[in-house]
Amino acid sequence: MASHLQDTDKKRFSTGFTVIVLIILVVVLSVLFLTINRRRGSDFSYTLSGSVNLTEWADGRPIILKDGWEFYPHLLLTPDMIHQSRQEDAREEYPYYKNVRISTDGWKDLGKNAELYSFGKPTKEMGSYGVGTYRIELLLDPDVDYMNLNFPSIGQAATIWINGKAARHYGVVSDNKGIYQSTQVSTNLQVEPTEDGRIEIVVLCANFSSPYGGILCSPCAASSTAIGVIEYSGRMFLTVLCAFWVFFLFGGYYISRTFASRSKLYFFLLMFLAEILYDIFAPTLSLLSGDWNMLIQTTLIILANYFSYLFYYSLYPRRTSKFFDAIRYVELSLFSMLTAFYLLTYWCFPNLLYLSSSVAVNLVLLFVTGAFNIFRVFYMARDFEHGRPLYMLSAPLVLLMHLAIFIRQEYYLYISFHAWLTLFLAVGYTIYFVVDYVRTYDKLSANNKSLADAVEEKTKYITRVNQDLLKNHEKLLENEEARKKVMSNVSHDLRTPITAIRGYIELMLNAKEPLSREQEVQYLSNMHTRSVQMEQLISDLVQLTRMESENDTIELMPISVKEMVGDLFQLYHAECEGTDKVITFTAPEDDDLIIDGDPKKLLRVFENIIVNAMKYTKDDGRIDITCHRYDDPAMLGGNAVEVLVKDNGVGIPANEVPYVFDRFYRAENSGINKTGSGLGLSIVKSVMDKHGGKIWAESEEGKGSEFHIVFKASSFSFDEEPEDEE
Ligand code: ADP
Repeated sequence: MASHLQDTDKKRFSTGFTVIVLIILVVVLSVLFLTINRRRGSDFSYTLSGSVNLTEWADGRPIILKDGWEFYPHLLLTPDMIHQSRQEDAREEYPYYKNVRISTDGWKDLGKNAELYSFGKPTKEMGSYGVGTYRIELLLDPDVDYMNLNFPSIGQAATIWINGKAARHYGVVSDNKGIYQSTQVSTNLQVEPTEDGRIEIVVLCANFSSPYGGILCSPCAASSTAIGVIEYSGRMFLTVLCAFWVFFLFGGYYISRTFASRSKLYFFLLMFLAEILYDIFAPTLSLLSGDWNMLIQTTLIILANYFSYLFYYSLYPRRTSKFFDAIRYVELSLFSMLTAFYLLTYWCFPNLLYLSSSVAVNLVLLFVTGAFNIFRVFYMARDFEHGRPLYMLSAPLVLLMHLAIFIRQEYYLYISFHAWLTLFLAVGYTIYFVVDYVRTYDKLSANNKSLADAVEEKTKYITRVNQDLLKNHEKLLENEEARKKVMSNVSHDLRTPITAIRGYIELMLNAKEPLSREQEVQYLSNMHTRSVQMEQLISDLVQLTRMESENDTIELMPISVKEMVGDLFQLYHAECEGTDKVITFTAPEDDDLIIDGDPKKLLRVFENIIVNAMKYTKDDGRIDITCHRYDDPAMLGGNAVEVLVKDNGVGIPANEVPYVFDRFYRAENSGINKTGSGLGLSIVKSVMDKHGGKIWAESEEGKGSEFHIVFKASSFSFDEEPEDEE
């Protein structure tokens, strides 16, 4: 529970951290965008002659030629034609606006200071857009040999005249509406002033139905280095963007492991590839000229848009939302068909690109796709948690990134808003994925470690269990072996008396002559002995089995060993009377030798040992029974009672002593005539084990045996009891 809480906290921290980093990134990039990416410069001033004064240009900064243009709307005029129209005997005069400001809206916004010069004639209907002729005259410091003139963007076909010479042609400038060969131009011109430091720039811009006709952004004049800086910064930015993308591609391979589906990575990379290529094909870089630029750029942005759709489409696995599952194929076919339709149309009819309506149509596609992406991400956010903050933030940003291609600014930026947003989004995604990847990696290694620990622990446990099993298996095998032995012994020991009894019965049945009373008694007494033997064996077996079963509990009570063994001694002493056998009993006079035990079972123990001693001694044998305190501190905690039964009988061969307590074990020398089951001592051993006592034998073959029976002494004393009763 605690570790679970910790995990959640960590996750929350990482997500919050990611969002903060992304926000900081937006702010930093925006500030950078607005400062670095701005063409610094100042407005120019006019000389008395009416030329734009660039003599202050000496500080090396570019000067923005924003104001002071002459504009002949909808007229394509060479410099000669303009000069002629201004002469007194001019056959034709062209109306023009003076002091025009160059703005993104072409001639519609001519600026506050614009004045119409129509030479007294009424103004013609000029048509729309910035189509027409632009003219400006610059006055340079006489020391300046040349300068650079930078037109960041001219819409469609243009011819630029410098000091009366046509310096550049872009597309076909014509007032023939059938000719649509046109482009968007960005150009740098190196211009040399006349001897008195003048430069006349005339730009003819012609196209007929484009939203972006004319000079779209005020040009700037500066030293070639200053212009170079602007241009190179743009190129460098794109280089960085490309490098970043390549880095992203390789990093993506590893990062992709954190993606739920691989396809979303491919769509993501394709989207950014298309976005970056779009910026590489920007007219400012003049990679391709003519119609191709416009066509390729439009194609790329439509593809980027489609990949962005596929990316968000692939984010969420099936069965996450019923709604999106239901429309899955409908939306996919719709967006695929729309994309195919747009691309096919533009590639078949590239001139449509220059229709003002195409801007609106493109805008609709980008907006609908972006809005759908946002809808999907916000709708699914409820059911699908992974990557929620990233996708909720990125979907609107992707829409913004696509719409940013329509953002045009007076201070035209070499690095477009679109490019900046692309970089920003790519960096943001990278940070997010790296954080996510690291987090997943951390989690995995933690899991791995705990898994390894668990495996180690389990392995240990299994090894232990295995060892136990092996032991048990061995024990079972031993038990099985013992059981077989018991069975064979039991059957043998039972069969022997039965065979004998049957023999006597057959003898009696088959007797040809009636048996004498003596014979009858003899046979019957033999049969009796045999049946007693059988009974003994069976009772031994029953007792042993019972003893070994867990259920056979012993009932402990204080017992005086001295008294119990003394009574038995009396019994067997009487039995020895009249024989040469001697039996003695020694016990301390002042000590009852109390132990805690089960009287019935203990009686059996003592009796068994004494009977064995009697059985395995010769007729003139001697048996000494001693009861005493056993004062060895190592024995049963140092407070023990021993019964020692010692005889001078046949003894037990040294190698057999350890086995006499085994079931059915009978020593080699136990004698054929001595009846016995070999169960007596194993019963004794069981009883002793249950009492927590000890029993062992010491013997020398031919000399005699000693049986030591040791119990823990009881804390109970009989002496105290009578006092209580009194
Ligand atoms: P049994 O019915 O054969 O007496 P026990 O389990 O009582 O079976 O004894 C196992 C074996 O231990 C005997 O067969 C005998 O060989 C040996 N044994 C036991 N007590 C003595 C003893 N006092 N002297 C010599 N051998 C003994």
